Amino acid sequence: TSTVGVLALQGDVREHLTALESVGARAVTVRRPAELAAVDGLVIPGGESTTIDKLLRIFDLDDLLQARIKEGLPVYGSCAGMILLADRILDGTADQRTIGGMDVVVRRNAFGRQVDSFETDLEFAGISDAADAPTGRRGPVRTAFIRAPWIEEAGRDVEVLARIPAVDTQGRPVAAAGRIVAARQGPLLATAFHPEITGDTRVHGLFVSIVAGG
Ligand code: GLN
Repeated sequence: TSTVGVLALQGDVREHLTALESVGARAVTVRRPAELAAVDGLVIPGGESTTIDKLLRIFDLDDLLQARIKEGLPVYGSCAGMILLADRILDGTADQRTIGGMDVVVRRNAFGRQVDSFETDLEFAGISDAADAPTGRRGPVRTAFIRAPWIEEAGRDVEVLARIPAVDTQGRPVAAAGRIVAARQGPLLATAFHPEITGDTRVHGLFVSIVAGG
């Protein structure tokens, strides 16, 4: 069994711990360097990327996390976590830094004010066809976007896993159609959305399989 840490500085930590455990991982919180050094994989939850960035430095985790990512540590970043995994960001604050590792440009708060929070079903490469073990759900993945970023540009080594569909569930055209909202680069996985609050555990299942060497 792999031990997967959830970075517990800020954001929705508990929901990730629950989702990881429901797909068979041992899930632990990570706040200290010794805890980060001990995990087989790490989830960076959604929250506020500027705050998590500052806390990573205050808690002395930033250099170690960068080093572990360079060594190949599997990391899954959701929403604010996706921003932290990006090599470059647009619309960050003046002193905002990222941990980096993924060759992507991420636009923070990309969906704008009117639609800054919404739920939608997404085709997600590799997992839309598989059944969600706890719920038995198949087909598109149920996702929640909360003041979410998107990936504006992805490098050659980045595999795009999900995009915003052209029309919503009522058949109306979607302004952000085609925007990249999930991607993978080696052991690094990022989603613009929160899968941990819709009860669909397939993204966590994918990450745990990456941690296990898949
Ligand atoms: N808007 C937040 C940020 O910039 C991300 C929101 C989220 O993680 N739900 O960090």
